[in-house]
Amino acid sequence: MDNIIYLDNAATTKTSKEVLSAMLPYFSEHYGNASTIYRLGGESKKAVAEARERIAESLGADSSEIYFTGGGSEADNWALIAAAEAYGDKGKHIITSAIEHHAVLHTCEYLEKRGFEVTYVDVDENGIIKTQELEKAVRPDTILISVMFANNEIGTLQPIAEIGEIARKKGILFHTDAVQAYGHVPVNVDELNIDMLSASAHKLHGPKGVGFLYIRKGVKIRSFIHGGAQERGRRAGTENVPGIAGFGAAVKAAFSEMEESNAKIQRLRNYLIEKMLKEVPHCRLNGDRKKRLPNNANFSFDFIEGESLLMMLDMKGICASSGSACTSGSLDPSHVLLAIGLPHERAHGSLRLTLSRENTMEEMDYVVEAVKDIVYRLRQMSPLYEDFLKSHK
Ligand SMILES: *Cc1c(COP(=O)(O)O)cnc(C)c1O
Repeated sequence: MDNIIYLDNAATTKTSKEVLSAMLPYFSEHYGNASTIYRLGGESKKAVAEARERIAESLGADSSEIYFTGGGSEADNWALIAAAEAYGDKGKHIITSAIEHHAVLHTCEYLEKRGFEVTYVDVDENGIIKTQELEKAVRPDTILISVMFANNEIGTLQPIAEIGEIARKKGILFHTDAVQAYGHVPVNVDELNIDMLSASAHKLHGPKGVGFLYIRKGVKIRSFIHGGAQERGRRAGTENVPGIAGFGAAVKAAFSEMEESNAKIQRLRNYLIEKMLKEVPHCRLNGDRKKRLPNNANFSFDFIEGESLLMMLDMKGICASSGSACTSGSLDPSHVLLAIGLPHERAHGSLRLTLSRENTMEEMDYVVEAVKDIVYRLRQMSPLYEDFLKSHK
């Protein structure tokens, strides 16, 4: 797989070499259970403690506020379900946004079936949540606000400080799904008034299947997995020591290289956007031009199907996505693209390209040429495009 151009870093990232080498000893010589008292287990315990410390520091939190999980989806499920259970006697109303990841949206649907009421606040045409609408949605029985830090499809960065301020003022718990943002942009839980935060290692060059939930001290929250005393009795199960050690190494690298890495990625991404808009006719950028993750570009091409585009890009060695990985395989257009007001046809003709520090300028040129060629060929076969040409003669 040498000739792969990987532009799907919002779906997952490549585990870096330093992460892999930080993990390997915990599969081989340091295989002890972290809960034991002999020295072999002590090595594992130390690795978990170090990773927890590093993560806490990166957020401006205390290490006792970090709970390891089996990934971002689990952290989202835990935050919402446990908050609903712990504060359900105070009220049954939850506020979230229309563009959340399915890990949040489907958990909200689950809670709706159990007597909770959920308000899904709209976003504007650039994909930024309407904070005035959010503030108006607050009721005396609102117990939780959950709004993502950055969107996984169009990369938009949400006004988290403003939302945190509203939540603090009204005394409501605030959770953010920061899976796309953590390790990519600075996040400080105190400055932003965040009470709970979800993150996942595999979105920042760490391993798959490990994440964490930050829970501010003093927040009433229930155990999610019942069993042993791991994670201070709130999330039982023998620790994924190699995964957690790898997460720690990924966090170290992400935070020490963040500025430099982002400068490079952003330069490539901006070049890609400008060139794509210039070279490919009837092409638009989705999401806010400025308030977006440095590595995200999301385009719509009129008169084509995103799925066909993806398959043809794959033949040219390019890995990309149409909307989100969770919706491909279904024929429904992305809920995020519909929420920013795209008509169904245009939402179907979308392409998400998400970069990493491993990409190059040559790859950007190659990708634009490939897209241009494929879009041209697909349009030659499109009856919609034929109609459009006829009507514009
Ligand atoms: C990837 C992602 C998740 C899910 O994380 P997993 O570790 O894959 O379970 C949740 N939210 C957002 C915004 C994501 O991008």
